Parts: sequence; structure tokens; C-alpha cells
Amino acid sequence: MAIDQTSEPKAAAAGPSHFIREIILEDLKTNKWGGRVHTRFPPEPNGYLHIGHAKSISINFGLAQEFGGLCNLRFDDTNPSKEETEYVDSIIEDVRWLGGDFGDRLFYASDYFQQLYEWAVQLIKAGKAYVCDLTAEQVREYRGTLTDPGRESPWRNRSIEENLDLFERMKKGEFPDGARTLRAKIDMASRNLNLRDPVMYRILHADHHRTGDKWCIYPMYDFTHGESDSIERITHSICTLEFEDHRPLYDWYLEQLGIYHPQQIEFDRLNLTYTLLSKRRLLTLVKEGYVSGWDDPRMPTITGIRRRGYTPEAIRNFCRAIGVSKTNGTIELSLLEHHVREDLNKRALRVMAVLRPLRVVIDNYPEGQTEEMEATNNPEDASAGTRKVPFSRVLYIEQDDFREDPPKQYFRLSPGREVRLRYGYFITAQSVVKDASGQVVEVHCTYDPATRGGNAPDGRKVKSTIHWLSAAHAMEAEVRLYDNLFAVPNPGDVPEGQEFTVNLNPKSLEVVPNAKLEPGLRGAAVASRYQFERLGYFCVDKDSTSGKLVFNRTVGLRDTWAKIEKAQQAKP
Ligand code: ATP
Ligand code: MG
Repeated sequence: MAIDQTSEPKAAAAGPSHFIREIILEDLKTNKWGGRVHTRFPPEPNGYLHIGHAKSISINFGLAQEFGGLCNLRFDDTNPSKEETEYVDSIIEDVRWLGGDFGDRLFYASDYFQQLYEWAVQLIKAGKAYVCDLTAEQVREYRGTLTDPGRESPWRNRSIEENLDLFERMKKGEFPDGARTLRAKIDMASRNLNLRDPVMYRILHADHHRTGDKWCIYPMYDFTHGESDSIERITHSICTLEFEDHRPLYDWYLEQLGIYHPQQIEFDRLNLTYTLLSKRRLLTLVKEGYVSGWDDPRMPTITGIRRRGYTPEAIRNFCRAIGVSKTNGTIELSLLEHHVREDLNKRALRVMAVLRPLRVVIDNYPEGQTEEMEATNNPEDASAGTRKVPFSRVLYIEQDDFREDPPKQYFRLSPGREVRLRYGYFITAQSVVKDASGQVVEVHCTYDPATRGGNAPDGRKVKSTIHWLSAAHAMEAEVRLYDNLFAVPNPGDVPEGQEFTVNLNPKSLEVVPNAKLEPGLRGAAVASRYQFERLGYFCVDKDSTSGKLVFNRTVGLRDTWAKIEKAQQAKP
């Protein structure tokens, strides 16, 4: 990586300012945690990570890195029936790809099951927890609502001995699923529903991906999370806003147990227009075949956007740009695309590609002659150098770059009009050949040999420059063009009685089976990224074969976000 000599090391290391960072700065000042910053990223392995998780990863790993601290990766794997090792493996890969450095600190909440069990027993012995025989439905009914206080369970005042005995027997597998629960004895009249004797343990005779059939009682998320944080000596337990109402419970468990007590801090969840960030719904798209898999390049999953050609740098820059706050909102998808474009602009090599070819014959160019034209690989990066592109008598240009009958503002090729072929010559269209249906299938042109390289010695100007390929040399590739997966900005708004899938965009994928590309791209490695001049950024897909490359359009060139910004700046 290049080192920027001009910026001061301190300024370069400083992360974006936000309220969580302020809390940490203050804690460092007061020495609250002995100078430590220790965060964690705690995914549940019930699906693949998505761009929303990238925000959490960026905050947790970013703050640890900025303050010389540590960030753990911890699987919140308390729910045996929904969790799979496929998800665990993908999450580890995705966190690493995003730059999350957890060293050897890969943990599983399930590693703490024995300790959690002992803590549950401790709470029973202290009269703070009891075994309850109400069914799940009754528990819900007894809990009350925001306006009605709850009612106490008839089992609430069991003796400590009876509770210890029943909990032990729950653990031994004497009771069927759902027959009993262990509940915390807090306050059925609390205004916070989470404090109305929350369930700590449930009976589930199910195999767990790590503990197998060792356990048939499983701790609830709330009873697990804070204790796991405590075991790992986390300082700042950063989570999304929906856990704000759970914080009193987080604190209660740690206080009652009298163990090390991290601070929970909540921030706003990322929502994006034209995007759904719910693992449940993403799973539906995969299971019901609306997409080709979790890594379909239209998916907002990390694996999907990686395959699409997004870079970790672009995602990190985006996450820094959106900031961290205490109110949920929705970010424009175009802002994410803007950061992808910005990053690719710096690193992607330029090449010429023609998606919808139209034959151009240069009548006065010698038959059988081939020239090598010199082309710049990246105008943003001189070290990327140049390459040779073959030029010959028969070329391909985009169908869009020719109009037999051009509208007023159309300056590209049309009969009698002269244009520049990028890195080539000036050409003038003379006549067309049409097929039986009247479609133009070939344009005959003349070229000016004095304009080699794209400049006229007499200084005459042309109004447009178009890209091209030599027909005899071009290679063929499949190109997949993507549009938003959902057709509406807020796909979570579903019309009454319908499925969210009604909001899918039927035109989110368009396949161009036989695009033409520069021959130099032959053998390009999977995941390599290019700018197809005038068309956008593309990357090589894993579906490529030795015979035919497949490209994904990562993002187009048009930057709607830059336009929005400009318009906003223009406002008085
Ligand atoms: P989903 O609703 O998609 O299932 P989740 O919150 O259940 O998401 P977890 O695996 O529990 O997913 O999330 C791991 C961490 O990532 C949590 O700390 C969670 O708060 C955070 N996270 C999840 N979604 C987002 C999001 N959209 N924006 C920011 N952080 C998120
Ligand atoms: Mg969850």
C-alpha cells in the first residue's frame, strides 16, 4: 500500500467522529477501563452477512483499531435449530475480507454454556430465578402489554430447592420441548416488558452445530449476551438500537451475578433504499430461487457484493461516510455506489468493450492491415502504463453510437458526421447496409490517415469520441448487467395481503451473451476489475470458463449521488 507522506500519522489514524467515539475518548480520559478498548462483533450464524453488518464491523473493528484495542468475533450461537456451519464459515471469510482483524479471538457463545448454566444456578440460589410451567403462549399472555401490567406466574414462588431440582431435571432431558422454562424473577409490573420475568432458558431437544446433543436446554439471547461480553472482558458492547430496551436487562443480569460489567451502547441500524437487510427475507429469496444464491451479485450480502466487484475499501469508506447516530434512517443506495465508483476509478484498468456490436467497415483502410494503437491503462494512475490495442479495417462500435437519423443533440456517428475513435483515427460515416427488416447492420466509413492517435494536425475538432474494437481480434464474453434487486425505494412496504417479493424488480438482471472485448483480456483472473470505457465498471465472474469469460457489471459510470450533492451545494 502506498504511504501518503503528506498527511500526519495522527490525522491518518483518526476515525470519523461520532458519539460512540466520544464516549470512548471520555472513558480513556477518566481511565474507566484502565485504558483498554475491547469490542466484539457478535453475529448469529443464521444467514450470510450483509451490508448492514458491514456497518457494525466497521464500527467495532474500526474503534478497536483506532485506539490500539481489540475486537473479537463471537458467534451468538444460542439457537440450535437455525444455525449452520455453512454460515459460520461464510461469516469468518466475510469479516476477514472486510478487514476485520480478530487475531485468534474467534469465540462462540456456545463455549460458555457450562458457565452460563452455573450462573443460572447461582441466580436460582439467590432467589432471583425460578422454573415456570406456563406454556409459551401463557407466558406471553401473562406478560401484559405496554399499557397493561403483567400478572405473576403461579410458579413464581416455588422454593429454591424445588427450582434447583427442576432446573437440573430440565438439563437432564426429563421434560419435552416447551414444557418448562427458567425465568428471571424481576418485576411483572415493570414498564419495560423485557423486565417482566424474562425467560432465561428453554427446553429444546435439538442438536447444536458445536455442542451436539450435550445440551437440551439453551440460554436465551439476553441471558447470554452480556455474560459473554463479561467473560471476554469487553469494554464497549456496541449494538443496534432495537436493543436499547434490553439494556436494563443486560445490566440486571450482570449486577445480580456480580461480575465484570461492560457498557452497552446502541446505534442506528443501516437501511438502504431499494434494498432489504433482513436475513429472514434474504433467505426467502435464496430458498425460493428468486436469486441464484447468497452470492448472487444482486444480493446485499457481503459475498454477493464481493462477487459483484465491490471492494472492501469502498465499503469501509461508505461506512465511514454514513456516520453513526441514535436515530434510524435510510441511506440512498446511490451513496454506496458512489463510493464503489470512487474507489474503482483509482484502481480499475481501462479497456474497451462493445456490448451491442455494430459493424463498421473503413473502406479506405488497406485490407489485411493491422496496427497496434497505444492506449492508456488508467489515466488516474500513471504507473499503470499503456497497452496495445489492434486496429483493422472492420471494427465494432456500440449500436447506440450510430444513428441514421440523428436527433438534435446527438453528436455521435451518423451519415456525413466525423467522430474520433478513441486511440484511433477520425472516421466519417458514408453509407449504411440494412437487413431485410430495415435494421442498420453495417456502416461504411472513411478514415483520415493523418489523425492517427486521435488528433487532427489541422486542428479540426470533432464533437464526440467513441470506443471500438477490431472485429477480427475481439474476443467474446458474456456480460451480466444488474439493476436494483427491488423496483421500489422502500421494499419493506408491502401491500396488504401480499408478499415482499411483489416488490422485486423483474429487470434486475440482463444477460448480454455475446459482447466483444479487447483480446488482451483473454485469461483475465476471476474477480479482476476493469472499467469498460464509457460503460461502467465490470469484474470477472466465477462462472467464467477457459473458453468464455463472464463479466458482472459492478456499477455504471453515471453518478447520481454526485449529482445530488452538486444540486444540494447549489441550493442557497
Ligand atoms: P437480521 O435482522 O438481518 O437478521 P440481526 O441483527 O439479527 O440481523 P445479527 O447476526 O444478530 O443479525 O447481527 C450481528 C451484529 O450486526 C449485531 O450487533 C447487529 O446489531 C448488527 N447489525 C445487524 N444488522 C445491522 C444493520 N442493518 N445495521 C447495522 N448493524 C447491524
Ligand atoms: Mg439476530
